[in-house]
Amino acid sequence: MASVKEVPQLRKRRVDLHMHSNCSDGVYSPKDLVRKAKDSGLVAIALTDHDEVRGVTEAVEAGKAHGVEVVPGIEISCLGDGLDVHMLGLFIEPEHPGLREYVRWYHDERLARGRKIVERLRELGYPLDFDELAARVGEAALGRPHIAEALVQEGYVASVQEAFDRLLGDGKPAFVPKRKLTPAEAISLIHAAGGLAVLAHPGDGLTVEQVEQAVRLGIDGLEVVHPRHSEEVAERIRQIARKHGLLETGGSDFHGRGDEQLLGTLNVFWESFEELRLAHLRTRRSTLEVAT
Ligand code: AMP
Ligand code: ZN
Ligand code: FE
Ligand code: FE
Repeated sequence: MASVKEVPQLRKRRVDLHMHSNCSDGVYSPKDLVRKAKDSGLVAIALTDHDEVRGVTEAVEAGKAHGVEVVPGIEISCLGDGLDVHMLGLFIEPEHPGLREYVRWYHDERLARGRKIVERLRELGYPLDFDELAARVGEAALGRPHIAEALVQEGYVASVQEAFDRLLGDGKPAFVPKRKLTPAEAISLIHAAGGLAVLAHPGDGLTVEQVEQAVRLGIDGLEVVHPRHSEEVAERIRQIARKHGLLETGGSDFHGRGDEQLLGTLNVFWESFEELRLAHLRTRRSTLEVAT
């Protein structure tokens, strides 16, 4: 009988360590996301909303109900140190005061920047009502896509794409850059909040030298498997991770928009999750050792 029981354990159990909910720009609520993960056969996931941890508690609770391990995470947008990257924080403590403060700052920063963009648009002859826009966006992260939609609604442009092409795109007349943490600051914040810092999708246009720059800044791991990484790119990133003794992760970067077929299909397995969990426990132990 024991051997029969062991059979399912021999099957490759898949995990997904990069997923978004509607607490950032995903479609599904954290609990619906966990249910979808369960239905697609995943045994562990990480909720990594952009610059937001609001959904973590709900996801962890849903994970307990459905028998899915849920890693509390975040994906921090960073700029500086010669890098324009996203940093995943895995196993973070969502109640950590520094992390809470960051999330609030980022939210306020987005509102302030949205207000500046709307001011620019007014000067350019496209007046919008900022308060109405902010009210419509509510708790969500106010971004250029919302402003583009408002411009379409007012009839100033025919499409969201035209709004970006003429006004809102990088370097266009109403473009205002966002202030972000530097990668070094993001790594410190993630570590302070008890998490592991993993460079997200390094295959998105980074050179090997830039990845190594991130390694020097103190990341703990590299995201090897990602839908935008070809096999060759993933292999190159894997080699960098092995060279530096870094953790290797992977995920679908699921948002729920046209990427449903990806769920449960990536070759990222339970062993990756276990390694991360052990690494996380080791960092916590060493913190305690230093403290005593
Ligand atoms: P934000 O976070 O406010 O800077 O907005 C970034 C989002 O705007 C991206 O995730 C895209 O969805 C969208 N976006 C940025 N640049 C363009 C562009 N040139 N054309 C269409 N959409 C864009
Ligand atoms: Zn996103
Ligand atoms: Fe990203
Ligand atoms: Fe992402």
